[in-house]
Amino acid sequence: MAQYFEIKAVNPGYLLFYRMGDFYELFFEDAEIASAALGIVLTKRGKHLGEDIQMCGVPIHAANDYLNKLIKLGHRVAICEQMEDPAEAKKRGSKSVVRRDVVRLVTPGTLTEDDHLDARSANYLAALAMVRHGDTDFALAWADISTGETFVSDLSADALQDEMARIAPAELLLTDAARAALTERHLFAPAWSGIATAIPAALADSEAAMPVLRAAFPADRFDPSALSRAGRAALGALVTYVGESQKGRTAPLRAPLSNAAETVMAIDAATRSSLEILQTQRGQAKGSLRHAIDLTVTAPGARLLAGRLAAPLRRADLVNERLDAVGRLVDDTLLRTRLRQDLKTAPDLARALSRLALERGGPRDLMAIGKAVSAALDLAAHLKGQPDLPRVLAGLADILDAAPRPLASELALALDDELPLLTRDGGFVRPAYDGTLDEERSLGRETRAVVAALQARLMDETDVRSLKIKHNGVLGFFVEVPAAHGQKLLEAPWREAFIHRQTLANAMRFTTTELAELEGRIARAQDAALEIELDIFARLRDAVLDLTAQLQGLADALAELDVTAALAEVSAQRGYCRPIVDDSLAFAISGGRHPVVELMVKAEGQSFVANDADLSGSEEIGGGSLWLVTGPNMGGKSTFLRQNALIAILAQMGCYVPADSAHIGVVDRLFSRVGASDDIAHGRSTFMVEMVETAAILNRATRRSLVVLDEIGRGTATFDGLSIAWAAVEALHETTGCRALFATHFHELTSLAKTLSRVANVTMKVREWEGEVVFLHEVGPGAADRSYGIQVARLAGLPEPVIARARQVLDVLEQRSAGTASSSQKASVLDDLPLFAHQPAPAPKGKDPIHEALDAVRPDEMTPLQAIEALYQLKKIR
Ligand code: ADP
Repeated sequence: MAQYFEIKAVNPGYLLFYRMGDFYELFFEDAEIASAALGIVLTKRGKHLGEDIQMCGVPIHAANDYLNKLIKLGHRVAICEQMEDPAEAKKRGSKSVVRRDVVRLVTPGTLTEDDHLDARSANYLAALAMVRHGDTDFALAWADISTGETFVSDLSADALQDEMARIAPAELLLTDAARAALTERHLFAPAWSGIATAIPAALADSEAAMPVLRAAFPADRFDPSALSRAGRAALGALVTYVGESQKGRTAPLRAPLSNAAETVMAIDAATRSSLEILQTQRGQAKGSLRHAIDLTVTAPGARLLAGRLAAPLRRADLVNERLDAVGRLVDDTLLRTRLRQDLKTAPDLARALSRLALERGGPRDLMAIGKAVSAALDLAAHLKGQPDLPRVLAGLADILDAAPRPLASELALALDDELPLLTRDGGFVRPAYDGTLDEERSLGRETRAVVAALQARLMDETDVRSLKIKHNGVLGFFVEVPAAHGQKLLEAPWREAFIHRQTLANAMRFTTTELAELEGRIARAQDAALEIELDIFARLRDAVLDLTAQLQGLADALAELDVTAALAEVSAQRGYCRPIVDDSLAFAISGGRHPVVELMVKAEGQSFVANDADLSGSEEIGGGSLWLVTGPNMGGKSTFLRQNALIAILAQMGCYVPADSAHIGVVDRLFSRVGASDDIAHGRSTFMVEMVETAAILNRATRRSLVVLDEIGRGTATFDGLSIAWAAVEALHETTGCRALFATHFHELTSLAKTLSRVANVTMKVREWEGEVVFLHEVGPGAADRSYGIQVARLAGLPEPVIARARQVLDVLEQRSAGTASSSQKASVLDDLPLFAHQPAPAPKGKDPIHEALDAVRPDEMTPLQAIEALYQLKKIR
């Protein structure tokens, strides 16, 4: 217990997995937490200060699963191992305890095992630093230690929330002081509480960081003094924390990229969520933009694609370089298919490399690296022969071509076809790779033949036909004879040679000196073989790690090629077109489609109606235009709004777009508010959320931005809402001058088109047919004069009497309120209406043949056959 308390005390805040033999045991409060979280039995073991000690345990072989579960639930775990063989401890004295120590701290941001990670998503650990008298407000450093990617970026208070939403780290390190300061300035988003890890101030210190950073990154690749104070503090905290969690093993962090927020399209958290870029608002992958367009064939490709979707570029030249590469593969189907086939054979190089560096890797990780290198060389061969490759592809071809062929050959020679998971199990080195290993192995095999010969000899000598030499974990090798013959061997002349070991109900077991000697030889041969294998593993691992930087570059190139080929595949399969992306203020989409809804509509056997949008403006006319979109609910307004935002994202991440043609002047910031939802958990009503978000847009949008707004001002009284929407449109038009789509139910707004030169009205077309509305999903000029709310309510299944009543109210309002402007006047109009309760329900009889037929049915009097017949009759009624 003393040892336990000592170890527990230096790892506060962690559940301690305390190794005892084949189990990790948890004690006291840890045991209570873990048993509840994992659904395992809570037991007691001994007493402490007169109280029972609570305990629960997980077996070693299943520990990974349990660990995973705990981390997902937000717990943090310290893994404490036995650092010596219990036999060693005994030698020191009967009372001495096995040495134990924490070998690793497991937190959401420091995972490396495939079991714990989503193969197709990055897992970032982030550190936030704030320097009060520095050259920047904040800095954020983040890294995925499972791949080594590392970034650092200075941020203004404004950009902080957006960056956090983009990176979506699994864990955020920050000092209590920084957290308090952020909270005070309303910059600490409620969602961060769940991922925040408090770190001591000393860890995020810009001065203390310098030696840490110099030691962590080679001087020729990274100069920490070029960072801001906040940047140093954040990166220093990150590196130190990673080091502490890995207890002395070095994560292969790569030279940090300064990922300046200015180079990418700014997309805030609300916009990301409303556009369902990486996941839907319900947190599902299916239905998101990523899910719709992710045709990558490797996990690293999928991670890179997600990263690109989260950060479309803001520079037209870079976008066009990517588009050139995608375009080449769209046009060359054969090359694309070959590349994608070979990419499928490339394993996750970066993650294998990281595990090897952290001494957690096994033979399969070595194999993964060999295979990835071979795949790279095959891919290079396909690309190298191609004339006039676009710059991006040519660059990738060079990197792939330089892949370390000798390493791949060596790994292929050394590693067997079937590999064990764990290095310590041995048996992974291919026969004929190492002479000494082969000798030891054949010694082991030969000795087995000697055992067989010995068994035959003993059988003959003793004349016990059923004598067998067997092996088990307790006795090792032994001679076994049926009980009936046992007595014979206990007596002369056999007594000398056969040493009795065990008597069972129907068998007796012995050993002989010769057998014991043989046993020793086999064990020594096995040990020697394993030792040689471990040496070979260590040598190969070192050879791999010597090339870490090159292999990481190769991993990047493979991922980039996968993304490029995948985007080309989507574009070719779905008939996307290459967008023109430049520095103008154009936004002209013809025949645009929604990349996700299109798939869903098509899956249902219907066709998606393509729609044009033209918000192009220019400096001369003072900015882009603003379209007011009216039309009934379910008419396709939000689909239209979203599709244009998504097209901008796709274009600027370097993908073809779902349209016949598209011309997009680079969008610096994208804002989308479509279907705001209640944020009740954080105490804000729909209206409040909407106003906060609208404020963000009006304050931050620039002439270069694209703004997509759906139904601003819904959550309040009509005139309030209308006035706010009105003022917002005017502000976007007069002050911001951005390109905007504005969907609204306030038809009064459409009159703004008369006074504001760049405002245009469009509407979702509907056709009325026998009192029903048919949605055409077609955008055309003009304004809707009505919302068809009642028709939609009817489609939704509101009871017929309520629908009928609503029609009445609407008629009265429309007839009598013409000319009236105040709500009190409208109310007085309503006073004249008879009350709902007095209104007889519209009689369905005579009008509705289904009801009529149903009334005529008498189930009690029917035979089953008649019932079926009646059912058929009912089906026929239209
Ligand atoms: P609104 O925002 O006007 O209420 P939505 O955009 O939510 O309407 O569209 C309602 C439904 O209509 C969508 O879920 C989709 O199934 C269908 N839809 C919308 N736009 C189109 C289109 N252009 N082509 C085909 N179906 C569409």
